[in-house]
Amino acid sequence: MDTEMADQTPAINLGRAEGEKSSKSAQKKAEKQERLAAQKANKSATNTTKEASRSEARNAVSKPSKKLEGVELVGITVAREDDFSGWYQQVLTKGDFLDYYDISGCYILKPASYFIWKKIQAWFGDKIEKIGVDDCAFPLFVSEEVLNREKAHIEGFAAEVAWVTHAGKTPLEKKIAIRPTSETVMYPYYAKWIRSHRDLPLRLNQWNSVVRWEFKHPQPFLRTREFHWQEGHTAHLRQREAQTEVRQILEFYAGVYEQLLAVPVIRGRKTEKEKFAGADYTETVEGFISTTGRGIQGGTSHHLGQNFSNMFGITVEDPSGKEGEKKPPLNVFQNSWGLSTRTIGVMVMTHGDDRGLVVPPRVSRRQVVIVPVGITAKTSEQDRAALYEQVDALALVLKAADIRVETDLREGYSPGWKFNDWEQKGLPLRLEFGPKDAAAHQVTTSRRDIEGKGTIQISELATGVQGLLDTIQKDLYDRADEKFKSHVKKITNWDDFVPALNSKNVCLIPSCLTEKCEDEIKDLSARKEENDDTPQDERAPSMGAKSLCIPFDQPEGVVKGETACCNPQCKNKAEAWCLFGRSY
Ligand SMILES: [Zn+2]
Repeated sequence: MDTEMADQTPAINLGRAEGEKSSKSAQKKAEKQERLAAQKANKSATNTTKEASRSEARNAVSKPSKKLEGVELVGITVAREDDFSGWYQQVLTKGDFLDYYDISGCYILKPASYFIWKKIQAWFGDKIEKIGVDDCAFPLFVSEEVLNREKAHIEGFAAEVAWVTHAGKTPLEKKIAIRPTSETVMYPYYAKWIRSHRDLPLRLNQWNSVVRWEFKHPQPFLRTREFHWQEGHTAHLRQREAQTEVRQILEFYAGVYEQLLAVPVIRGRKTEKEKFAGADYTETVEGFISTTGRGIQGGTSHHLGQNFSNMFGITVEDPSGKEGEKKPPLNVFQNSWGLSTRTIGVMVMTHGDDRGLVVPPRVSRRQVVIVPVGITAKTSEQDRAALYEQVDALALVLKAADIRVETDLREGYSPGWKFNDWEQKGLPLRLEFGPKDAAAHQVTTSRRDIEGKGTIQISELATGVQGLLDTIQKDLYDRADEKFKSHVKKITNWDDFVPALNSKNVCLIPSCLTEKCEDEIKDLSARKEENDDTPQDERAPSMGAKSLCIPFDQPEGVVKGETACCNPQCKNKAEAWCLFGRSY
């Protein structure tokens, strides 16, 4: 039986109300959620008359109008803290980011999440264009012979390569691989195109998707069989130039997380054990998921040295050779670097809450929604039309200021229902506008990321809204950063290591950075239920810790050749502080 599909089935929403197919406990949770939502809606509807607000709240959560039959009515039915992966599936599907597909490990990116990818493409694409990288498109397929040319490299992927063996019913003479990454696809042509040092640097990037047929449990955005990414591949005459670029790209990756997605990351270098197969070294940005206490690799930039140029014969004549002098050809220095839609998963896990997605304003498809409120059965058709006109006029003001705004004039849905709907989708800022707001020349504001309401005067609408969006973006980052920082523990005594992991931290320890030592740490920190003193906690992963990175920003306290490695089984001296953690 395909357990992967079984695991996923509950998240596939076929349009029935949640209660029909849920277990009793899920139903109870749903009921609790409804009560909370009703309380909240009641509390929040202060701008309308009390009578109207109560009926809205009832309509919002428990009394669907005819139109809503067959539509998902209940919000997120599992709490983030109770069942993180169940919560993750629900916020993605109910927040309209993603849908499941009938091939396990493959997912449909819906417009709201693909918009974020487009924003990342635009921002990062602009950065690399400015430093001289050009986009191109190489084929999806690679022949077996070429794929196998770089042994150390392909060993890292061999088990996950998907093969095309037939065209219709006819077997192919030679099977053809679908790229798991494009080093082997591109580098034969680098050898062909790079004839002289004047052809350097060659710096190309592709926005594409690649396939790695993983058998581990798939997770949307984080581990998928096909994923979208960019892969940059560059060739340089001098190693120093190449190494400078590795760091430059890493800084752009950090920028995608920090500036666009409001997600803090730690920059560092991978250990020998964790570096990219076939690279000299790998630099990385590492994120942190507080609910599970696990680290997550955010994006990696590799210096490949001359490993691939040796294998693929990418050489130039030595420009330092004098006229007539015969010098041996030089192998070029290469880099490759990639950032994938995993970014979106990290963003969701960082900011989302029990009400659904929370999307930072800079990447949200819709930044602001204006919802008309205070319309009751007694409101005349004329007054209603006038209010809607005013709402449209407000939207025009925001559009003119390049704010991505939507008006929600849907008929047959109460304001409370609309509030929940936009909250679930993570929309950063809601504006409410009713007769009382109109009389006071203001709009009522409600931020997705915090409780409570405010107001903005209509005369200052555009600047007020933009200011609030900027504040939301900054606050999201600051809160996540504070959380991350408070969960990085500096540890020098091994006895504190596993308890710190179990308390959902990642740990900086003095490390000798050898592979053997890392393997031992992984074994020593794996949770062994039978002799573990800590109380059973089904949420905590039982996996051992691996190294996440050697942070560039090294605290004081490790003296090379003096400080002991933290691993009690290791006799080596420490080289540096290394960040370890359970990870995705
Ligand atoms: Zn060691």
